[in-house]
Amino acid sequence: MYDLIIRNRKLNKLKVALVILVLILIIMVIFTSVRLVQMYKVSKTINEYNIWIEKFNEEKAKKAQEEANRFATLNSEELDKISNIYKHQDNKRVFLTFDDGPSQAVTPYILDLLKQENIKASFFVLGVKAEANPDILKREYNEGHFIGNHGYSHKYKEIYATSQAVLDEYNKANQIIKDALGNQNYNSLVFRFPGGSSGGPYHDVKKEAKELLKQNGIASLDWNALTNDAAGASTKDEIMQNFYDTVEGKTSVVLLMHDASDKILTYECLPDIIKYFKDNGYTFESLYDVLGR
Ligand SMILES: [Zn+2]
Repeated sequence: MYDLIIRNRKLNKLKVALVILVLILIIMVIFTSVRLVQMYKVSKTINEYNIWIEKFNEEKAKKAQEEANRFATLNSEELDKISNIYKHQDNKRVFLTFDDGPSQAVTPYILDLLKQENIKASFFVLGVKAEANPDILKREYNEGHFIGNHGYSHKYKEIYATSQAVLDEYNKANQIIKDALGNQNYNSLVFRFPGGSSGGPYHDVKKEAKELLKQNGIASLDWNALTNDAAGASTKDEIMQNFYDTVEGKTSVVLLMHDASDKILTYECLPDIIKYFKDNGYTFESLYDVLGR
């Protein structure tokens, strides 16, 4: 009898131990399943996140390319804005433009003065000069002035050999500007023909070149007032007289000046020129204002 009781007790203990073991096993199975489900969910989320990041980067690259393309050329509306620049304006405006720079001897002084007066101008830079003075070009740009293109060499025989030569000079100078600014997406977009876009012995080539530039989304711009600082005027009085004679009666003035290294007189006349425009109610604009860029 006693033996039977002891055997029953042993059997009960075994049963309890078995039940505990089974319970532990069940708990372990549940626990592992939960962990596996969790891990699956996490890896799915990581996968989805990676796909999303990839898509986001693709979109970003696509947008950057579209932006670069948009800034690479002017559309027909923008080309028209440049060719209509001299038309009558109810609110008088003036574009101060400087050709043939940048130069160390003159450009920084002009920039100082423009900064002091809070005026944005437009610089039609020469490739050969921009190559020599990239820091000054960068300063022009950083201070908000428009950087236009005046070709590379300024040698009429070379630049006006053919209309393609004009486009080649534009492209050569344009690349130098991009490099100087450290921005491969920058494009100068407005070309100023050395000596003007019409007349002279190269008139026919210039006419053809104007069309070729336009087909490539590049505008060309001359002027409707000048100081004659590049050809003829050798005193402040002469410069100012040329200025007054050509500016009179115009409501949208594109004033031609030069910032080559021998044009310190231009800088010296600039305060009087600025004063004239201020006294007569003109607003100073750069070509960025016209293009809305
Ligand atoms: Zn020039």
